Amino acid sequence: MVIKEEERTSQPDQEQATQKTNGDQGDPNDKPAPNLGRSVRIVGPWKSVDAAETPHEKNKRGELGKPLFNWYFNRTADDPLARTAFPQSSADKRNTLQSVVGGAPKGGINPEKIDVTDPVALTNHIKRVARYFGANVVGIAAVHPSMLYSGSRYPDDGTMSPDSGGGPKRSSAAEAAEKYPHAICLSTAWDYQMIQAHRHHIGDHAYHFSQARLQLIYANVAAYIRELGYEVAQNRAQPMPTALAAGIGEMGRHGMLISEKFGSRIHLGDPILTNLPLIADGPIDIGVTDFCKVCRKCATTCPTNSITMEDKVVHNGVEKYKINWETCYRLRAYVMDFWEICLTCVTVCPYTKPNTWWRTMAIVALKKTPLRLRSLTVRALKFLDDMVWGTVPKKRVKWMNYDSGIVPVKKQRNGATGAETNGHGEAPDPKGKVGYYYPMKENTRRFEILKERAERNK
Ligand code: SF4
Ligand code: SF4
Repeated sequence: MVIKEEERTSQPDQEQATQKTNGDQGDPNDKPAPNLGRSVRIVGPWKSVDAAETPHEKNKRGELGKPLFNWYFNRTADDPLARTAFPQSSADKRNTLQSVVGGAPKGGINPEKIDVTDPVALTNHIKRVARYFGANVVGIAAVHPSMLYSGSRYPDDGTMSPDSGGGPKRSSAAEAAEKYPHAICLSTAWDYQMIQAHRHHIGDHAYHFSQARLQLIYANVAAYIRELGYEVAQNRAQPMPTALAAGIGEMGRHGMLISEKFGSRIHLGDPILTNLPLIADGPIDIGVTDFCKVCRKCATTCPTNSITMEDKVVHNGVEKYKINWETCYRLRAYVMDFWEICLTCVTVCPYTKPNTWWRTMAIVALKKTPLRLRSLTVRALKFLDDMVWGTVPKKRVKWMNYDSGIVPVKKQRNGATGAETNGHGEAPDPKGKVGYYYPMKENTRRFEILKERAERNK
């Protein structure tokens, strides 16, 4: 497997912070807990997440059953663009950018380290470089052991691999945090129009190609830092807590990061750990905590009931909304003949809107509202969102030869280009108004859940 799974950002991947833990060497709880903002708080003792217990790793060992195992290892997408987008969908992994970049050997470190006299200027410079390479959002986190995987995972800096012979042992999270005090978090946004076709190949392509771009940008930035004479490591930091600390966004009820400019339609990727002297950013507050308390739009529309209607819980010392990653993940095996990534919760989230002046105004209004009055502002914004965008957005999207108004049936593709001559199937939407919305139910238990809650609160 060449692609680093941390670079994926659908729920099972972002959920890694709450997977089984195996402790760590030393006592990382000695350090004060990092500030992750209002949406996720460390409120008690925690243990480093064991990377071997994350969803994809479990699946690779066959622990999640045959359908998911086969989804991961034994499939080839019908759609040629999908085969180019993502190694697991490809017929030949070398036809995907992610495999090529992930498998490329790492370059050496310039022995002539640059002298850093002004870390603020250097931080701004690195951010400018990352944006120039194509990142849409950039942030720097001060690394804390709680953000790192436990010692079951080797950083890819070449110093601690099992093949390094007499080299140093695998580092604990505390040791790695000391060695690499900063993490650079980058993000690419998925195309807004394309992800309106959630549960469709069009949405898949928005997701996977921006993921591939992000991996390339990370590789570019890591290479640049090595050329400055400093060390980098990837494959070690958990994307979600690192991104929260770096101020990339806040975590929503749907378990995804919500950024200020792009809402949920962003990738997090695999943060770069480095010893480059940088200045860390801090968490942001764009009102996600207040919004999610009222909204529940993602929970209502989730086809697998994976998103909670209830309040946050404390898991492994972390207070957050806890999604059921397993039910979300299992869906992939059953829909892979039609599309790959669900994305419904991302698309329906009121924060996921085009980056326009009115969106900026709404966020500024929310940010400026004092905390005690925010629920009023949220209710007004939610009302507007439902009125203008609908409670379950179903928009027909036409992109290249694809049309989300056409049922995506499993069918032999037409030669190399596939999508031509109605390659996605037949049966256009009879009304010709809405996009084809894969016929799965919305949250089937939502009324029962509300009733149960009312009973409990009596
Ligand atoms: S809507 Fe539900 S099933 Fe779909 S990606 Fe989100 S959590 Fe997973
Ligand atoms: S849809 Fe609503 S509840 Fe879900 S993450 Fe977005 S703001 Fe929060």
